[in-house]
Amino acid sequence: MNHEEHSTKLRKLGLIPTIQRVAVLKFLENNRVHPTADEVYRGVKDSFPSLSKATVYNVLDALKRAGAIRELTIARQAARYDIMTSPHPHFMCRVCGRVYDIDLPHAVHEGDVVDGHQVESVQTYIYGVCARCREKGAKNSARKDQETKASGRDDA
Ligand SMILES: [Zn+2]
Ligand SMILES: [Zn+2]
Repeated sequence: MNHEEHSTKLRKLGLIPTIQRVAVLKFLENNRVHPTADEVYRGVKDSFPSLSKATVYNVLDALKRAGAIRELTIARQAARYDIMTSPHPHFMCRVCGRVYDIDLPHAVHEGDVVDGHQVESVQTYIYGVCARCREKGAKNSARKDQETKASGRDDA
């Protein structure tokens, strides 16, 4: 989306499209990694050196309340922000701390009736080790095996 489209979106949601709000939306659109507020601040600060951290927090709060972005409480330490507001499951890696969008085979959707219960909101958080870290871990343990063999002793 360009600047004008972001402005229109904000106006439709009843928000005045300030340059800070548009900048934060643009950053979230271009960085689909579910950043924390601090990461958003660091990301937009370069283009707006006068921008304070408090302003970024206020902007995120206003965008969240207007429904322009979604706040994820997947990590206990800090909220993450997502420009994709439609409900979708998230996976958090305990090794690298990245938050991924993930497809689930049997996802429950808002509006579904499950076993007689009407679903109104869905937040799915899954925790574990991501594909990238698992691959890295497998490579590291393979290398360790080789080193052990080369040194001629087996600590394990
Ligand atoms: Zn990971
Ligand atoms: Zn997401």
